[in-house]
Amino acid sequence: MKRILVVLFLTAYIATNAQNIKSPSEFLGYELGTEFSRHHEVIAYYNYLAQTVSDRVSLKPYGKTNERRPLMLAYVSSAENMKNIETIRANHLKNTRGEGNTEVAIVWLSYNVHGNESVSTEASMQTIYELLTKKASYLKNTVVIIDPCINPDGRDRYVNWYNENRNTPNNVDPKSKEHHEGWLNGRANHYMFDLNRDWAWLTQVESQQRLKVYNQWLPHVHVDFHEQGVDSPYYFAPAAEPYHEVITNFQRDFQVTIGKNHAKYFDENGWFYFTKEVFDLFYPSYGDTYPLYNGAIGMTYEQGGSGRAGLGILTRSGDTLTLKDRIAHHFTTGISTVEVASGNAKKLNEEFKKFYTNKNFKYKSYVLNGDNDKIKALTQLLEQHEIEYGWSDATTVKGFDYGSGKTKSSKTKNESLVVSTDQPKGTLVKVLFEPNAKLSDSLTYDITAWSLPYAYGLEAIASETKVNSPKAGSISNTSNTIITENTYAYIGTWNGMNDARFLANLLKENIKVKFSKKPFSLEGQKYDRGSLIITKSDNRNKKDFAIKLSEISKKHAKQLTPTSTGFVDRGDDFGSSSVHLIKKNNIAVLTGKPTSTLQFGEVWHFFEQQLKYPVTVLESDYLNAEDLEEYDVLILPDGWYGSFMNNNIQKELKEWVKNGGKLIAMGGAIEGLEGKSGFSIKSKKTEKDSTLIKHLITYENSEREGIKDLITGAIFKTKVDHTNPLAFGYGDSYFTLKLGDDSFEYLKEGTAVYLEEETTPAAGFAGSEARKRIANTLVFGTENYGRGHVVYMVDNPLFRGFWENGKLFFANALFMVD
Ligand SMILES: [Zn+2]
Repeated sequence: MKRILVVLFLTAYIATNAQNIKSPSEFLGYELGTEFSRHHEVIAYYNYLAQTVSDRVSLKPYGKTNERRPLMLAYVSSAENMKNIETIRANHLKNTRGEGNTEVAIVWLSYNVHGNESVSTEASMQTIYELLTKKASYLKNTVVIIDPCINPDGRDRYVNWYNENRNTPNNVDPKSKEHHEGWLNGRANHYMFDLNRDWAWLTQVESQQRLKVYNQWLPHVHVDFHEQGVDSPYYFAPAAEPYHEVITNFQRDFQVTIGKNHAKYFDENGWFYFTKEVFDLFYPSYGDTYPLYNGAIGMTYEQGGSGRAGLGILTRSGDTLTLKDRIAHHFTTGISTVEVASGNAKKLNEEFKKFYTNKNFKYKSYVLNGDNDKIKALTQLLEQHEIEYGWSDATTVKGFDYGSGKTKSSKTKNESLVVSTDQPKGTLVKVLFEPNAKLSDSLTYDITAWSLPYAYGLEAIASETKVNSPKAGSISNTSNTIITENTYAYIGTWNGMNDARFLANLLKENIKVKFSKKPFSLEGQKYDRGSLIITKSDNRNKKDFAIKLSEISKKHAKQLTPTSTGFVDRGDDFGSSSVHLIKKNNIAVLTGKPTSTLQFGEVWHFFEQQLKYPVTVLESDYLNAEDLEEYDVLILPDGWYGSFMNNNIQKELKEWVKNGGKLIAMGGAIEGLEGKSGFSIKSKKTEKDSTLIKHLITYENSEREGIKDLITGAIFKTKVDHTNPLAFGYGDSYFTLKLGDDSFEYLKEGTAVYLEEETTPAAGFAGSEARKRIANTLVFGTENYGRGHVVYMVDNPLFRGFWENGKLFFANALFMVD
């Protein structure tokens, strides 16, 4: 009886406290969980809270998506804290320099990074409401930052699709269409990038804008809310092995503290959950690892559901999983997270400070040299991460040499780029730069290597002693080339993406550009294959030629060398047949069913946001010979072409290539060109192991045994034939990121990049059987067929948009292979 009275009293108290704030259900006009809320409705609720409870909530935009949806953060705390929010933030950041003295916990909750894991945003509304009402006491010493939707374009793609296709009332039969999104699903963002793979590489506008604010706060706790398959129970911290070695004992232990608190509530309700399995903490570009490497307790929570679940679905066990259930679970862990943070605010602050000030890693400095544009691209990434860097005087550095894989002493050039771990972001430096991250367990489902010197194609030394870098400052972003109308020609180098962007811009402006298939020297200067030659004569009919060329070279900070003659000292003169005019190619990329959404998206994003050159997106249904005639280049992104590549399509493609088309086949598309079509590419046959079973594998160990066949992402040193136009701008070797063990034989001619017998990865994990399979195989190559060409890209240089040094291969495929 007494208990009932207490409950009644409490309910009355809550009711008064909450009476002026509408719950999500009251505001939206439907009970939360009975409809999917569209993004603008969600923002409207947060706006309403910011206006109604303005002393405790502030809502701030931090950017826009590709489709112009607003990106917003809600800051929630006690009225007292909100008055001093700037001071709280500034004091908290002092901790990163070891100077802070604060006991306020900062918790950042990120919802709906995967658009069709759509419960998250709904749960966020219930969570903020509860924090403002029943759970307001947690906010006395805690600031909660809520991102209601990291990926609004993906979420609305899902929600709009669902509303268009759903049954009324909704149908829990898993076969009904409302549970099958189809090819273009809502998981990724506009460009089909997975934003939960982009925290470190920042190729997407959502990540770029978010990280600016993230760095202004560097929370103690960060949660990324997700969903997994319909039949899975809930997953929360602690995570599975492998853990990256930089994750501190406190970060490990505190995940357990939080996990146990969640378990308490889940046990009370009789809900299932699991921990310590599947979701590991290694690859640095996730919403859990990236925060961990920046001092937070970074965690992923996974509800069963995702795009298949709709408003309700029958599970394998015969139960119905509803959106309301899913909301209840994410809501519970969100609140429980804030509760634990609030209860441990002092400890979180102490440990956060320790994280930022205790940096004692084996490698103290990374010293980098190479092409100026590549160095510049890397420093731009460092600036986004607020990683400090400097420039060294000429010096001798002993350390691990990335190119040879050996420890040696090297003389570095004046003004080498130096990035040291002795700085607040030192842990992140180690994770992103170290040659080979220590893998505590090879069972991981993502790439196992990403080291930035390899990704950017730079010479690098990892030094165990700190290298001084007395000079600060960014690389100048200007070109001082003076363009005049009477100059015979201008010559530009061809080394990387900046050069490709420059060329693309010239072609769009109808400026004619040549390139040399052979190296040459002129007026005492040597030029490599692929060097761009822009002559007065080729452009004599273009009136504003000099003005435009001047504008474009300035825009791309592209230095050009003027020359008064086309008579070269060595090599072929500018009038020679080995100096080709670059065609302003009309380019198409295949989309739809046979392609992978992510890999199609990488090509799409490459054209529109990186190269800035037009591309036509061809729906696979329309692929026939008539359509193709208009295009010079057709790109087949990675995918599953088995049933798509029937004889007719093969014949049509073959005919089109024969008549001068250029086909670029990536990853899984290559298999589709094998065999009957007449293209010469061939899968490598590997001898099967003897059928004699030499040792028994226990049932329990069968998964572990399977990793022998696995490459999930490792870096390999390959050989390069840089006389092949596909490899112009490269040296004798190239570090490729291999994502699988697809293996093709060398081409008769045109093998441009390839693996030899030795296939020990330079970094990352590769299973012993997989390594045998990829020995002596093709990485990139060209085949001439009739008047046209086929370009094979077994590895994907556009993977997640971050392998900067591979992108020139792709540009070569577009413009140099002719
Ligand atoms: Zn997810």
